[in-house]
Amino acid sequence: MIPARARVWAAFSALGLTTACAPASGEAPARWTLTKGAQELVPDTGLQARIFKALDAAREAGTDPGISKFHVRAATVIQLEGGERTILGGNTEYRVPEAIHGETSLINHVINAVGPEATRREVGFIAFYGEACGGGGSCGDCRDYLLQTTRWQDLLIVCGKAGDRTVHVDRFAAGIVPEERFKEVTAQDTGVPGTRLDELVQAAREAREGGVRLFTAPEEHLGVAALTTSGKIYRAAGADDAAFHYRYPLGAVLQQAASYRDYFVQAVVVAGQPGRTPRLSYRDRQYGYEFSSFNRKRGLAPIRLILIEEGAGGARRYRATTFEDALPGAFSTADFMPEAVDRFLQTAPR
Ligand SMILES: [Zn+2]
Repeated sequence: MIPARARVWAAFSALGLTTACAPASGEAPARWTLTKGAQELVPDTGLQARIFKALDAAREAGTDPGISKFHVRAATVIQLEGGERTILGGNTEYRVPEAIHGETSLINHVINAVGPEATRREVGFIAFYGEACGGGGSCGDCRDYLLQTTRWQDLLIVCGKAGDRTVHVDRFAAGIVPEERFKEVTAQDTGVPGTRLDELVQAAREAREGGVRLFTAPEEHLGVAALTTSGKIYRAAGADDAAFHYRYPLGAVLQQAASYRDYFVQAVVVAGQPGRTPRLSYRDRQYGYEFSSFNRKRGLAPIRLILIEEGAGGARRYRATTFEDALPGAFSTADFMPEAVDRFLQTAPR
């Protein structure tokens, strides 16, 4: 549970209180208190003490959120060679908007300090210091990064609420849904009419023949096709480059549809390497979730997310879910700025 971005950002923007969460240096910090649920997840008093120490440190973490004005202050305390190390991270934003997120910044700093192996072994929690807690989990991209760099099965996400000094704790793993947990369904139960489903599968498969794959492993390379409410089908494949600024296939297909002002998507089909269940990154799930929130705003059904797995002899298996289920605890612009999304979608064709 990271700081409640949605409510905080909305409330601060509305009131013009964008500097309200600057660290209050010099004040003597009061005691932290774990909520009942947090106590159950963290019975060990030594770990509790490290969490409180991290929260006090996170309060002073430097950030530069020039666009959203929303500060994400993160810290962890690790045990190393009989001592403890406190390490900080914070978000920074630039241009279009792009951002380095608090948790990514933090883990990068831990790796700088102690190396990747010790990071994976020793980081047990990420603590956020914020004005509110309960706003949902990390974004998709941070989930991808933490899956790679931490012992994520045991990782705890901590939020310390500045106002009442309560400490909320969740398991990072609660936000992870492996593709094997997407329900296996018949073609009929994908929710897409048969002929359209075949077209989508064909388009996703053909898309996978393209893209740019200079560094990407074959099992990571995906083709994606999307069917919008206007009846059009768009397609895209992943593309890598020397700067490792990967262009994600699902994000690409949604961006294409948006370029035609075709904002409402019925279904997305993902094709991977034959014989394997496609692995859909959490970053791409984030893009899908954002678009599905457009559907919710307009009273449409959530986007159907369909993975296809082609077996030997042309046998095809389907797994279907929604982005809401594939990215638990997600946030979208519809949470941050509901009125802005309403205004934006008013201009979208019906
Ligand atoms: Zn993030």
